[in-house]
Amino acid sequence: MAKTASRVIDVRAEAERKSAGLRSTTGTLAGLEVTLRNMVRPQHVTIQYPEQRKAYSRRFRGVHVLTLREDGSLKCTACYLCETVCPAQCISIDAKDVDDPRIEKAPSRYEIDLARCIFCGFCVEACPEEALIMSREYDLAVTARDPETLTYGIEDFTERPQIAFYGAGFRPHPEYPLVESYVPGERDGTPER
Ligand code: SF4
Ligand code: SF4
Repeated sequence: MAKTASRVIDVRAEAERKSAGLRSTTGTLAGLEVTLRNMVRPQHVTIQYPEQRKAYSRRFRGVHVLTLREDGSLKCTACYLCETVCPAQCISIDAKDVDDPRIEKAPSRYEIDLARCIFCGFCVEACPEEALIMSREYDLAVTARDPETLTYGIEDFTERPQIAFYGAGFRPHPEYPLVESYVPGERDGTPER
């Protein structure tokens, strides 16, 4: 039995051919509409930084903050979860023993190389103690690519005045107030969204 040649129909090319004229017209009109709208109602999408600053939400992932207990000690128990989960491998912790049997360990050194950090927040999400949260601090410009400059330690994450100025940022459960711990300089514990 002789084979009959089947006709292949490219439905996509067919549809594009039929709609090409209409689409180019509507696309032009849509572009014109955007142009006209912005001509009569100009919107400023840029700001005069640093004189002007944007207010970011409590979900902003800025420079980290190590939170403290009421007695001023670090909440961090040196469990290494944040260091393990960090995709940029920029967290470095040394642990020391503490007398309190409920805690057992605390960090003697806690450093993050912020030049390598991608501010993903994984470390904050992994922390079982809410000992590490993020702030809304974003001023991190430096003039030299010196690894020391942006490697922050315990004092940087607890005592810089910028922490209170910018306030708390991303943490996994903002619906819970910061009851036991607090961000230095910010004791209200009432999260804003
Ligand atoms: S924000 Fe992300 S990249 Fe930065 S220290 Fe935390 S886990 Fe690592
Ligand atoms: S910051 Fe949190 S996750 Fe990281 S070592 Fe301390 S307690 Fe563990």
